[in-house]
Amino acid sequence: MGDVDVVIAGGGPAGCAVAAALAELGWSVLLLDAGVDRHKQLAGELLHPTGVRDLRALGFGDVVDAWTSQPVRGFAVRFHAPTHTLILPYGRGVTGLSLEHANLTVPLQEAVSRRPGVTLHGRARMTAVDHNDEHGVHLRFSHEGAEHTVKARLLVAADGRASPVRRMLGIAEHHVRISTMLGVTVDSACLPYPDHGHQFVGGPLHALAYAIQPGVARVMVDLPLGSTAQTLKAHPELLLALPPGLRSEVRQALEQQPAPRMASNDDRLAETVWAGSAVLVGDAAACCHPLTASGMASCFHDARALQEALHRHAGHIPRALERYAHERRPAQRTRVALASALYSAFAGQDEGMRALRLGLLHYWEHSPRGARASMALLSSEEPRMRVMAREYLRVVGHALAAMLSTRGQGGRLRSAGPLLRSAGPPLRDAVASAMEQLGSWLHRRVRRPVYTLARAGWASPRRAFASNR
Ligand SMILES: Cc1cc2nc3c(=O)[nH]c(=O)nc-3n(C[C@H](O)[C@H](O)[C@H](O)COP(=O)(O)OP(=O)(O)OC[C@H]3O[C@@H](n4cnc5c(N)ncnc54)[C@H](O)[C@@H]3O)c2cc1C
Repeated sequence: MGDVDVVIAGGGPAGCAVAAALAELGWSVLLLDAGVDRHKQLAGELLHPTGVRDLRALGFGDVVDAWTSQPVRGFAVRFHAPTHTLILPYGRGVTGLSLEHANLTVPLQEAVSRRPGVTLHGRARMTAVDHNDEHGVHLRFSHEGAEHTVKARLLVAADGRASPVRRMLGIAEHHVRISTMLGVTVDSACLPYPDHGHQFVGGPLHALAYAIQPGVARVMVDLPLGSTAQTLKAHPELLLALPPGLRSEVRQALEQQPAPRMASNDDRLAETVWAGSAVLVGDAAACCHPLTASGMASCFHDARALQEALHRHAGHIPRALERYAHERRPAQRTRVALASALYSAFAGQDEGMRALRLGLLHYWEHSPRGARASMALLSSEEPRMRVMAREYLRVVGHALAAMLSTRGQGGRLRSAGPLLRSAGPPLRDAVASAMEQLGSWLHRRVRRPVYTLARAGWASPRRAFASNR
């Protein structure tokens, strides 16, 4: 096989989006997909408005319009004790959408394979990276029973969270298994708010639900590691967070759907997202618990960030990849930290997390601004870590206020300690990351321009800083 501009390993949401983005720049694209059966997968089905917007910007507007998708106007969060549902709308009349995973991803792949400059090899698996430096990559892949070699200017690893290509590149990752997701389909008439994503929080198990086609909803139940569908069948009381109608639908589905879809929920963060002339996108670069439903929006954001960086530094791939890494980092860190903090607050069973949940309920109920800010973070509209740190602090404040208004003196003292102990570490991490983001913003906006001016002989950095003051 001859040379191409870019080889993309993986034809999921990230790989298809990158293929479209780079074909638009006029690059020749070889898209390899190992061909996982998406009809059997439990994976992304709800797409936030940011994801829809990025898909349209990447030229997939006709695919989006052809989907038989369900509108999603925001999240309905149902607290178990006290039982109370709060609506968090996206705001400003924008909507997301949801549809069955295969119905979402297969048309994307078909559409991108028709783009000029894109060659798709289905059932093709990348097997080795023989050479990778700033001048390009040499790699091998298997297709139709034969092994092929190819040279490219750029290799994009879009091969999902287990990412064999990341390992071939020798990039380490931080990996924590969190829980297991079990998914069944039920009658969507049982959903209390059919055009919303649902979060069922504070019960023995956390659950998510949304409509995926007319009359059909997906319910996903978060199981502790080591539990299976049998555990749920044997202990139906674990579904207490769901309203009674939905609970009996899920129990019925467990009897009738002998092999419910399962997926592992993991935190995975690559140590770096680029090396030589290779770059990671989508889940291969970072993935987190799916309760914020932000994975696919993040894939499409990666594709646009990579396109922008390669457009700006067309002749210098390492510089473009460095820019891509820098541009995507704040949003990724906020997304992963938010998913982890929300998962603890929604599913945590200790006294501190119970108090924090009451704080969330109190906050969203009493502060429409707070509900909007939380939804902007949740849907990846707001990427800044300092906003997350600020909102988290406010929730802790509301948890303390809720405690003071409902408990006697002894109760106050008993719950404040566990609350601060549980909320402390996520808050400390968020503040540290926010400071890092601020430092890098200052570096880009102030120090670098001043030194560039100084190098060009316009001013000495010290004089420029002095005149700024
Ligand atoms: C239970 C669950 C629910 C989720 N719900 C949502 C949701 O509602 N909304 C949302 O936005 N996100 C959700 N996500 C996350 C979302 O599914 C992922 O973020 C998204 O699928 C990542 O896309 P990707 O293209 O990076 O990887 P993948 O979708 O995993 O695609 C990777 C592709 O790479 C191919 N591949 C693997 N190895 C090779 C190789 N060696 N050579 C060539 N090809 C290879 C595979 O065949 C596959 O097609 C959920 C995830 C889970 C687990």
